[in-house]
Amino acid sequence: MSLRAVREVAPVDGDEEFRREVREWLAENLTGELRGAGGPGRENEAFPQRLAFARRLAADGWSTLAWPVEHGGRGAPLSRQVIFHEEYAKAGAPSRVDHIGTTMVGPTLMALGTPGQQRRFLPRIAAVDELWCQGYSEPGAGSDLAGVTTRARLDGDQWVLTGQKVWTSLAHVADWCFVLARTEPVPPGASRHAGLSYLLVPMRQPGVTVRPIRQSTGDSEFNEVFFDGARTGRDLVVGEPGQGWRVAMATLAFERGAATVGQQVGFQRDLDDLVDLARRTGAAADPALRERLTRAWIDLSALRAYTMRALSAAEPPPTTASVIKLLWTRWRQGVGELAMDVLGPAGAAAVAGDADVERWRRFFLFSRADTIYGGSNEIQRGIVAERVLGLPRQDRR
Ligand SMILES: Cc1cc2nc3c(=O)[nH]c(=O)nc-3n(C[C@H](O)[C@H](O)[C@H](O)COP(=O)(O)OP(=O)(O)OC[C@H]3O[C@@H](n4cnc5c(N)ncnc54)[C@H](O)[C@@H]3O)c2cc1C
Repeated sequence: MSLRAVREVAPVDGDEEFRREVREWLAENLTGELRGAGGPGRENEAFPQRLAFARRLAADGWSTLAWPVEHGGRGAPLSRQVIFHEEYAKAGAPSRVDHIGTTMVGPTLMALGTPGQQRRFLPRIAAVDELWCQGYSEPGAGSDLAGVTTRARLDGDQWVLTGQKVWTSLAHVADWCFVLARTEPVPPGASRHAGLSYLLVPMRQPGVTVRPIRQSTGDSEFNEVFFDGARTGRDLVVGEPGQGWRVAMATLAFERGAATVGQQVGFQRDLDDLVDLARRTGAAADPALRERLTRAWIDLSALRAYTMRALSAAEPPPTTASVIKLLWTRWRQGVGELAMDVLGPAGAAAVAGDADVERWRRFFLFSRADTIYGGSNEIQRGIVAERVLGLPRQDRR
């Protein structure tokens, strides 16, 4: 397939008009202070302004573009979702504060929630009235997620939760958390995936304590979350009690999609800025750095072509998300290291107040996390090893 063909993602009539509509909206609504704000390693940046912007997007129907019309979305085809994310990233619009709600728990509730749960939560997720966080990982359960030990038991018409979650992104601003908890012991001889439940838990209550974790960047974007007698309604379990594993996996499958394209437009902006920095500092004269900058451009072009082809396939291979994640995380870590070399000794020195040094140091440091969250790269390679190469399954007991 030619590069030209894969760029098109099944266009439909009116796409170009739609692109103009997105551009005009952004030109009217995007003010200077919001440009480029937020993103990996910068989630706390201009948070109130980004929240207000997300609500404006929501009010005009942009944040739920991909949601079906019957759930209050616009039911946009994939080509328009891609256009929206491309234009959003090209304009330098801020990183979204509502993505856990709109792209993870919202679609999960549409697919597996009760009508009551849908009525209660979907309108507030769509309007960005309520923010969400994801309560999966625990000190003893990350890659091995079925090992969660947070427990929930029924007390009358409420679930009572006890346990600890960790690395919970944005828990410090979230109103609700979707929690994977053990509600039944593992039946003898059964897999540990049985007996887990997917609970919707309000964060602002006495039984929930959120403790920020300070990262190497100096910021705190994720947290420890302690449940000590926290409560939620009996009806706020998604799917059957004890069948939460299936729901938890469905949420992860919803996490990625057309937004990947916008993410890659953002990568292109990062690379353009790094090339500009190399020109300004004179690093562009170094043949080794020139070669690495060029290779970063080629690798990004290959990543975008692969992504477009996968998105436009009628049935993308089940390992698509793993391959894309392996490619982009390696790319970002390589660019982080390259940026440190472009900066030279200034990158390592404690130069406070130099915007270039601060930006690229943060980029470099946070990119270390890219190969861990959202399923570590070892886990992604394991998926490809088993599903594509047909290598024997790992013993996970
Ligand atoms: C920035 C960031 C944000 C996050 N946000 C959230 C969040 O909002 N909510 C949430 O629930 N979690 C979140 N996490 C947690 C994340 O999902 C886990 O860190 C991740 O699943 C890895 O788990 P772990 O840290 O327990 O490491 P472990 O699972 O203990 O892994 C340690 C190392 O062993 C390797 N390893 C483990 N198992 C295997 C295997 N079977 N084969 C080969 N290698 C293996 C791993 O790749 C890793 O290198 C976040 C993490 C980060 C870094």
